[in-house]
Amino acid sequence: MGYILGLRCVLCGEEYNTNQVTYVCPKHGDEGILDVVYDYAAIGRAFSRNDLANKPPNIWRYQTLLPIPDVSIDDTTGALWSVGWTPLYHAERLGRDLGLAHLYVKDDGRNPTASLKDRASAVAVIKAREAGAEVATTASSGNAASALAGMAASTGLPTVIFVPETAPQAKVAQLLIFGARVLLVQGTYDQAFDLCLAASKEYGWYCRNTAYNPYMSEGKKTAAYEICEQLNWRAPDRIFVSVGDGCIIGGLWKGLRDLAALGWIDRMPKLMGVQAAGSAVLVEAWRRGTEEITPIVPQTIADSISVGIPRDRIKALRAVRETGGAYLAVTDEEILDAMRLLARGAGVFAEPAGATAYAGLVQAEHAGQVDSGERVVVLVTGNGLKDVASAIKATGQAQRIAPTMDAVRAAVPKMP
Ligand SMILES: *Cc1c(COP(=O)(O)O)cnc(C)c1O
Ligand SMILES: [Zn+2]
Repeated sequence: MGYILGLRCVLCGEEYNTNQVTYVCPKHGDEGILDVVYDYAAIGRAFSRNDLANKPPNIWRYQTLLPIPDVSIDDTTGALWSVGWTPLYHAERLGRDLGLAHLYVKDDGRNPTASLKDRASAVAVIKAREAGAEVATTASSGNAASALAGMAASTGLPTVIFVPETAPQAKVAQLLIFGARVLLVQGTYDQAFDLCLAASKEYGWYCRNTAYNPYMSEGKKTAAYEICEQLNWRAPDRIFVSVGDGCIIGGLWKGLRDLAALGWIDRMPKLMGVQAAGSAVLVEAWRRGTEEITPIVPQTIADSISVGIPRDRIKALRAVRETGGAYLAVTDEEILDAMRLLARGAGVFAEPAGATAYAGLVQAEHAGQVDSGERVVVLVTGNGLKDVASAIKATGQAQRIAPTMDAVRAAVPKMP
């Protein structure tokens, strides 16, 4: 923790000591999301890019740049150990279809619980342990919860989870098998969020809620570190990412700002935030040029980004505005198309919210917003096995046949 200067409120800019405040700005309550401020000069003196050479292939290689104490995290801590360092593919074939020579796909569905949320939940578990918490809790559309439950299980920390009762079955199954106490809320994610917050205050549980707990962006920023390191520190021109609450895109921006401040990258990629058309609160705010949002009742197949009140709106809007990126809205149909294209063009199986980033790239490319020579990264945030019903919606059912060669010949007249 030696390198943290404090926690700065995104609304008023007031800075607090980390031992003064646990979650939000005391002046602004739950709206006053805090940003962790680092002493880059001190980090720069103590650590360089070259020091990464002998670090493990997971997020803990960046421990110097994370808000966690000097605890040892190794393979005896189970799945917590293997978070991050997910593959970044040069997706040549997929890129060719779009006229892009330098398209990269980072598959964060390859994390222990199959989504990017492991990056944040891993940090949450360490912070909960540091705080001496006996229980950790979160509200979630599903992935943050399965990540918290999985990471907590690897250290034996009990969890209480609030998810909307409509969460995909696989995500609920993950919670149950990891031993979480699961509360299926008969309401929206936004209602589950408020409920979890109230319960954490009443019971004194450690709360992982996105855009309430200031350390979640810090975990998520490691995806940006990896993208740049995997590209040999040549930062890409653009990163496409799906956006619900806005914590991931805010985290990516934080990671990129860290790297720029340390002089590890020499350019800032444009961040392209992609939302589902039925849940496009930030797209609307961005178009209107405001940081005020108008809450909606969201409606989209992409459950992980089905958010009516994006809690991390300020970081999310600034991430796009200050990097010169854009917000885009894609329809559920474009998301389902993107799931097929990604799977068939690069072998990457994404859940709807995971493929949303690619749907955004397709749209931006067709609108002439992306030059053919640009180096573009699509961040796939969650694995398709988390929601097989949507995958089958994207493809249609498989064909049934009688167990005979005649049936095969009838079904497949001539192939190839
Ligand atoms: C949580 C999540 C998102 C969106 O992240 P936010 O921080 O809410 O914007 C996108 N895709 C997947 C798969 C997720 O689990
Ligand atoms: Zn404040």
